[in-house]
Amino acid sequence: MKQNILDMESYALEHNVPIIEKDSIAFIMKYIKAHNIQNILEIGSAIGYSAILMASTNPDVTVTTIERDETRYMECLKNVKKCNFENKINVVFQDALEVNLSNVNYDMIFIDAAKAQNTKFFEKFKYFLKPNGVIITDNINFHGLKGNSQEIESKNLRSLVSKIEEYVEFLKENKEFETNFYDIGDGLAVSIKKDEK
Ligand code: SAH
Ligand code: MG
Repeated sequence: MKQNILDMESYALEHNVPIIEKDSIAFIMKYIKAHNIQNILEIGSAIGYSAILMASTNPDVTVTTIERDETRYMECLKNVKKCNFENKINVVFQDALEVNLSNVNYDMIFIDAAKAQNTKFFEKFKYFLKPNGVIITDNINFHGLKGNSQEIESKNLRSLVSKIEEYVEFLKENKEFETNFYDIGDGLAVSIKKDEK
């Protein structure tokens, strides 16, 4: 297991795959244990690094993870198999915005895909969350660029960073969820679904 994780880290470095930072995944793993999270949906598998670490926290944890890039999806399947997690992790090869989920209720949704689409992912997948479930979003600080979108020269990057700023505003104003922001790794947002009254 340990060696598989190290191998994934070197693969990611070598192939420029943006896997989660160590502090962030440590935070999420602790959260999973503390809140007895069992059923997780992940948007953006890449090579399965975060999915495998989340699945490893507890024997009862299962993960459904969605990836649209074929090379990464294949690599993810390979890694899930190496870790003997075929019965814990279900890898779906599709664009998350086109996926049809059967009526599953997740304890946690981890959003870690195309950053400009965060609001769309949130609005689509919130219906698959259990009452008091949690949505965690990675890269909320976007390499420290958040809050500085007007000073960025490149137009594409500026537009991406301002999308993330909009997402942060969307979370802050959201009445259905209570969000806390953490300066851990590349920034995490933890959004807890409020009780329906
Ligand atoms: N969660 C992974 C890293 C994911 S990187 C980890 O920490 O180990 C983001 C991934 O999201 C990329 O592999 C990209 O192909 C995928 N992605 C981006 N937009 C997507 C979409 N709409 N549907 C499915 N996958 C998407
Ligand atoms: Mg990430």
